[in-house]
Amino acid sequence: MAMSRAPHWEHAVVTGGSGFVGSHLCAALLADGTEVTCVDDFSTGRRANLTALLGRPGFRLLEADVRVPFTVDRPPDLVLHFASPASPADYLRLPVHTLETGSLGTRNALALAHAHGARFVLASTSEVYGDPEEHPQNERYWGHVNPVGPRSVYDEAKRFGEALTSAAARARGTDTLIVRLFNTYGPRMRGYDGRAVPTFIRQALAGEPLTVTGDGLQTRSLCYVDDTVRGVLAAAAHGMPGPVNIGNPTEITMLDLARWIVELTGSRSDVRFVERPIDDPAVRCPDITLARDKLQWQPRVQAEEGLRRTIDWFRSQEAA
Ligand code: NAD
Repeated sequence: MAMSRAPHWEHAVVTGGSGFVGSHLCAALLADGTEVTCVDDFSTGRRANLTALLGRPGFRLLEADVRVPFTVDRPPDLVLHFASPASPADYLRLPVHTLETGSLGTRNALALAHAHGARFVLASTSEVYGDPEEHPQNERYWGHVNPVGPRSVYDEAKRFGEALTSAAARARGTDTLIVRLFNTYGPRMRGYDGRAVPTFIRQALAGEPLTVTGDGLQTRSLCYVDDTVRGVLAAAAHGMPGPVNIGNPTEITMLDLARWIVELTGSRSDVRFVERPIDDPAVRCPDITLARDKLQWQPRVQAEEGLRRTIDWFRSQEAA
């Protein structure tokens, strides 16, 4: 498919812009000369993530809960809906908030995009594939999700968000895109958010045992945040509706990841095995053929480089 829009945006609204991925997205858009309005309720995001952006020309912050209809000062031509608790620790602590942000929040962000004829991007997730029976997962796979398990508050919120986004495109002609992000890591993750990379780095730097769940043989595919953001913006600039997988197809077991982080940090920590969470997927790996073919996108940052940058950032936070 040919580019249907110029890849330059005048004004982007980023819901969840003070979060981990959202703050990198805001920075990348500003660097491209796009004005950015970040809409965030700080339920899981941090003001510190915006330190380098607040006060910069073209950047605005609207503190608002997207579960309630909202408007912005100037018309956007791009709305990126990234608001949602995303780490298991957060969505298990905020189950109803997560479901409402995926449903009401998506409805309200879609309404904003529709009112201004803006392109709408839904940050969906590999979690829509659940504990997959197909491996690797391509976009045609419908998933294997437990609708009543504890993780369902996140998985089903995102699946509903995808359905709502698809309905808005069909019924109202809203210009929409669904990106399915796979595990992303990098600077600005929170050490206690429960995700493997920040947990292991925090533990390794503190000299504590690295808590690997189950036997540690479950796999994840880790994409450095700069690659994820570049993939999202490439898909936004392209006219495609998605869904499109954005992730790094290099798979690693959690045990190998833990050992690697011990090595890269020069830590003396050892590994401690702990109970595996309910419905934790055994494997997770994106098929990125679609993104490669249509967007000429693929990850560039090697895991060792990405992990070093992330470790350096965690160290800098300790020193601050
Ligand atoms: P995060 O928790 O760091 O960021 C989420 C942001 O959304 C936070 O700033 C939070 O305050 C905000 N938010 C939550 N509910 C809100 C509400 N009702 N109103 C306004 N703001 C609200 O998470 P993240 O890792 O940066 O994830 C960002 C998005 O990307 C999420 O939609 C997530 O589902 C998706 N995603 C992330 C990953 C990943 O590996 N990080 C993988 C797949 C999908």
